[in-house]
Amino acid sequence: MEKNSKVLPLIPLRGIIIFPYMVMHFDVGREKSILALEEAMLNGQEIFLAAQKEAKVEEPDESDIFTTGTICNIKQILKLPGDTVRVLVEGETRAKLKKIVDNEPFFKVEIEALKDEDGSKDSETEALVRSVRKAFDEYVKLSGSIPTETLLTLDDIESPGRLCDVISSYLILKQDKKQELLEAYNIFNRLEQLLVILKNEVDILKVERKIGIKVKNKIDKVQKEYYLREQLKAIQEELGEEDEDKKEINRYKNKINKAKLPKPVKEKALYELDRLRNSGSYSAEGGVIRTYLDWILELPWNVQTEDNIDVRVAREVLEKEHYGLEDVKNRIIEYLAVKKMSNSLKGPILCLVGPPGVGKTSIAKSIAHALNRNFVRMSLGGVRDEAEIRGHRKTYVGAIPGRIIYGMKQAKSKNPLFLLDEIDKMSNDFRGDPKDALLEVLDSEQNNTFRDHYLELDFDLSNVLFITTANTLHTIPRPLMDRMEIIEVSGYTGEEKFNIAKKHLIPKKLEEHNIESNVITISDSAIYCIIDNYTRESGVRSLEREISAVIRKAIAEMVEKDKKKIRITVNQIKKYLGPTIFTYDKANEIDQIGVVTGMAWTGYGGDTLPVEVSVMQGTGKLELTGKLGDVMKESARTGYSYIRANAEKYGIKPNFYKEKDVHIHVPEGAVPKDGPSAGVTMITAMVSALNLTKVKHNVAMTGEVTLTGRVLPIGGLKEKTLAAYRAGINTVIIPKDNEKDLLKIPKSIKNKLNFILAENIDEVLKNALVGK
Ligand code: ADP
Repeated sequence: MEKNSKVLPLIPLRGIIIFPYMVMHFDVGREKSILALEEAMLNGQEIFLAAQKEAKVEEPDESDIFTTGTICNIKQILKLPGDTVRVLVEGETRAKLKKIVDNEPFFKVEIEALKDEDGSKDSETEALVRSVRKAFDEYVKLSGSIPTETLLTLDDIESPGRLCDVISSYLILKQDKKQELLEAYNIFNRLEQLLVILKNEVDILKVERKIGIKVKNKIDKVQKEYYLREQLKAIQEELGEEDEDKKEINRYKNKINKAKLPKPVKEKALYELDRLRNSGSYSAEGGVIRTYLDWILELPWNVQTEDNIDVRVAREVLEKEHYGLEDVKNRIIEYLAVKKMSNSLKGPILCLVGPPGVGKTSIAKSIAHALNRNFVRMSLGGVRDEAEIRGHRKTYVGAIPGRIIYGMKQAKSKNPLFLLDEIDKMSNDFRGDPKDALLEVLDSEQNNTFRDHYLELDFDLSNVLFITTANTLHTIPRPLMDRMEIIEVSGYTGEEKFNIAKKHLIPKKLEEHNIESNVITISDSAIYCIIDNYTRESGVRSLEREISAVIRKAIAEMVEKDKKKIRITVNQIKKYLGPTIFTYDKANEIDQIGVVTGMAWTGYGGDTLPVEVSVMQGTGKLELTGKLGDVMKESARTGYSYIRANAEKYGIKPNFYKEKDVHIHVPEGAVPKDGPSAGVTMITAMVSALNLTKVKHNVAMTGEVTLTGRVLPIGGLKEKTLAAYRAGINTVIIPKDNEKDLLKIPKSIKNKLNFILAENIDEVLKNALVGK
């Protein structure tokens, strides 16, 4: 290899490699490069071109540029609009960068040109040359992007080095591969490298071609099937036979005519049928139309069940299937009576609100039964998209109607009882608010023309009896609430649960297992034992589950031990269900200072809530512990301020807030505690601890307190009272304004408790503190 050094301007190339003998143009935009170009034009038109390692780098320095490049001859320069220049160059020889002579205003570098030696060709080189030619030949044929004439021009090239360079300039390769070829100074190595690359590329091209053929075959097959089908149609027509398509169209036509559809629906159906005829049933379009027609045909446009409006029969059914729930039953009877008299169904939607498992869903089912209507249920829990209620437009891939229309299809009549469960668990997001769609569904003025996006037809919902359920009222959107009549279904007392278990749950479970009622019997105390020790809930869902478990275990025992009958007692319950799971707080045994029993209400029912206060020497801090919610903390502070303002009245030193720390603790951290209703409890405990008076152990209390000591009403009185009764309390102090709620408390419990109605905190303290 001959070597000689020279100094030339350099242009760093981005993303391209130029080989010797290659003619190529590229655009130059960087100012430094344009200056280099001008310098070259002034001095013999020679320039050194070397690639940048990273095309992204805007201002490369020495380390960013490959040291091997090509000396090129500038053939032509063309100024383009803007500051760019288009250059046409021809590669001369590869060269190696020795050192940077100048950096500014352009790169000037000392390079060593490396001209290929054309020495004698040994047989090994010759063999390689032939293989390279052959491989390139194949490459050209497979790739299809290089004209085959190129191969002819290669025939004239004698020098193996030049052959490599020319072939390299044709290949479509990644920059680093090309750079490697450029850096192969030794001709034998260059041939070898090129051969490997060519073979590899040829392999890839072969695979690509195979894939291409497969895809093409598939398309051909679809086309072939289409032709064959068309031919078949023609033959069938010739023979006077009906083809499958026509048969299908006729089937739909008959169904549409028979279905007694309302006029606009029928028109739409026939229109779609026409489209089906034209689109051919094997097309994607055909599939969409068929699904749509099926939906239309399956909806109960004109199917109606006959209502039972015999009020007495309805009452019987409701009484038979559910214990208690008087409010709901009465409301339904009222509803029926009105209907019978006026023959109109319009009226507010019923909304049953109450904790889980109190029978909201199952009483709705009973109502359907009593009215002789079909029953459908749809849960709104987690629905957050309007389209879930109202459907997606047909243009969406895989579109279906919304849940209301889906429910109507299941109902199979246009006047079912439609239960919308968990209306309080609905939410919304960016896709629209389901509430708005639901408003329309529930509005008796509008719902005779409910329009589903998918159906694009009005459906009459005005004959549907909608009933909704919710766990709480707080999260029901206001506009929805305004359309509904709220019926609260509160939790059950132990006695009510006992009756439900005895009269409904146990017979139901026995029947499910196909067992006569005298084969397995459960003693009353055993039922109470399950209620008190294995469940803690407002409703009866766990109770139902535990009863199932007991009955299953009893059956297993009967089969295993070959018994004919079994009587389940408390002992058996313990054996079947394991150690007791729940115990309720019992009231304090003795009067104590600073310890008061409050009453709390949670989603799972009521519970007692003991509050403890301790007072110590200090600097006037108020400490609150026991995982209290914010509202509860605030009501503790309000109470503290009230006591400071009225200290003397309660025999407390007026400057206690400077010398004493007060610590309020609400034990049993597992139950989240919040709400204002522990106000009276905390004040009573603080006063007791500060003036050292004992609190009566058998008193429980609830009520919110204002800064001036007024006692405000609270919610959940029934649940709270039940809990106090369970805990063995006999006096309950409640806000005067809650007097009306006493009506809801079962007599059996009301008679055993002494209720004190308090208007202000003084009345509470008078009744709670010993000796006041
Ligand atoms: P909810 O809908 O309120 O969560 P469910 O209707 O699912 O409750 O009731 C749970 C189970 O309890 C059902 O099997 C139901 O029959 C039974 N149940 C609830 N309350 C009563 C009742 N008052 N009389 C008879 N069975 C009841």
